[in-house]
Amino acid sequence: MTVRVNLPPGCEGLNMQDGTKYTARPGQHIDVAERHASAIENLSTGGDAGLVSAKGGHTFGTKKERECPQCGWLWNVWTTVCHRCHIPTLVKE
Ligand SMILES: [Zn+2]
Repeated sequence: MTVRVNLPPGCEGLNMQDGTKYTARPGQHIDVAERHASAIENLSTGGDAGLVSAKGGHTFGTKKERECPQCGWLWNVWTTVCHRCHIPTLVKE
């Protein structure tokens, strides 16, 4: 059972906690195992970038992050709208 995940712009793949790596060209979807999909869901809806490292072990295959031009908060690369200000975030390299 796999779940199709659309990668956000700039994200080239996912490294799961159990060592499984998914890679794709930017903008492509990937098919991940169901257990990984739930982990991704937890991360991508978790809110802020700190949560990813706080939970430990989950590292996404991205070096970029996004910054809110209004409040300056740094978001994960797939967070395109600031959860605080509800305005589009900008890619910060
Ligand atoms: Zn903001």
